Amino acid sequence: MRAVLIPGDGIGPEVIDAARKVLEATGLPIEWEVYDVGEEAIRRYGTPLPDHVVEAIRRVGVALKGPVTTPIGFGFRSVNVLLRQKLDLYASVRPCKLYPGVVSRFDKVDIVVIRENTEDLYAGVEFEAGSPEAMRIIEMGNGRIRPDSAISIKAISRAGSERIARFAFDYAVKNGRRKVTAVTKANIMKITDGLFLSAARDVAKDYEGMVEYEEVLVDNLCMQLVRRPEDYDVLLLPNLYGDIVSDLCAGLIGGLGMAYGANFGDGIAIFEATHGSAPKYRGLNVVNPTAVILSGAMMLKYLGEEDAARRIEKAVSDVISEGKRVTYDLKGRRDDPEAAKTYEMAEEIARRVKG
Ligand code: NAD
Repeated sequence: MRAVLIPGDGIGPEVIDAARKVLEATGLPIEWEVYDVGEEAIRRYGTPLPDHVVEAIRRVGVALKGPVTTPIGFGFRSVNVLLRQKLDLYASVRPCKLYPGVVSRFDKVDIVVIRENTEDLYAGVEFEAGSPEAMRIIEMGNGRIRPDSAISIKAISRAGSERIARFAFDYAVKNGRRKVTAVTKANIMKITDGLFLSAARDVAKDYEGMVEYEEVLVDNLCMQLVRRPEDYDVLLLPNLYGDIVSDLCAGLIGGLGMAYGANFGDGIAIFEATHGSAPKYRGLNVVNPTAVILSGAMMLKYLGEEDAARRIEKAVSDVISEGKRVTYDLKGRRDDPEAAKTYEMAEEIARRVKG
C-alpha cells in the first residue's frame, strides 16, 4: 500500500507524525512517499508546489496532507487551492460528527459538508483596483461598481455544479444518509448561485425516493446550524460558503482539532484536516492530532481497509470519551496541566489500535 505524505508546515509535521504512528499501528504495510510543499519547497525548488509533487500524487492516487501556511494579502497563492485546481479535486468532504466526551453545546451533531472545490470566487481571477481589466468590468457594471474597486470574478458552471451535486447524492446513497440540503444565496446571486441551485434540483430528481432534497439560504443555514444542528445531514455548497460553513460545523463538534476530511477528484484523493497550520502553536506539540488521524482513517477506508479504519475510529472515540490522554482543547480548559501532548495522545490511540 503506497501513499504520498505531505507534512506541511506550522503544526503540520507534528500532527502528520502523530497520524503516521496511528496508521502504522494498524499493521498495514504502508509505504510513504514524503514531499515538501510551501515555504520549504520554495527554498529548495523555487516554487511552493513543485511539479514532481503534483505528479507523485497523480501517480500514487492518494495523499495524506498536513496544513500549509498561505501568506495573507501577498506572496504565493494557496498551495491547497493550487493542488485542488491542478488535480481537479472538485469535491471537498468534511464529516462533522460529535464524539462522546467532546465538550460541545450540543448533544448530537452528524453533518457531512460537501463543498465544490474548484470554482466560485476561489478560481483566483482577481484584478487590482485601477487595472485595465478592473476598469473594463467596472464599465460593464453601468454605474453599479465604484470606480476605485478591486474585482474578483465569481464563476459557477453548470457542469461543475452538476458534478458536485451528483457527488453529494452518490455520497448520501453510499453512506446511508437520508437528506441532501443545497445551500446558496440564490435570492441575491440569482444567476451564479441560481445556476448551482438549478443543477442541484435537476440532479435531485434522479435520486427521488432514495434521498430527500431541500434548499436553504446560507445566512439562514448559519443561524439554523447553531440552533438545531440535528436537523441537517448532508450539506451541498458552492466553494466559498462551503469553506465558511465547514469551519462553523467544526465549531459544533469541539473545534478544528476534531474536523477531518478529504478532497476527491476522479481516481485521486487528498486527505487532510479542516484546520490550518496554526503557526502560533508550531513546535509546541500541544494541538489535537485527531483531525489528521481521522483523515488518515478516511484514507484507509477509501483504500478498502474498512476494518483498520474502524479500529482507528474506535480507538479515537475511546480515548476521547475517557478524557485522560487528550490535548488541551478536549480538556475544556486551555491551561489544564493534565492535558496530553500531541504525541502522547497519538501514542495512546496507536496503543489501542494495536490492541
Ligand atoms: P488555523 O486552523 O491554522 O488555526 C486557527 C485556530 O484553530 C488555532 O489558533 C487554534 O486555536 C485552533 N486549531 C487549529 N488546529 C488545531 C488543532 N489541531 N488542535 C487544536 N486547536 C486547533 O487557522 P488560521 O490561523 O486562520 O490559519 C493559519 C494558516 O493555515 C494560514 O496561513 C492559512 O492560510 C493556512 N490554512 C491551511 C489550510 C490547509 O493547508 N488545508 C487550511 C486552513 C488554513
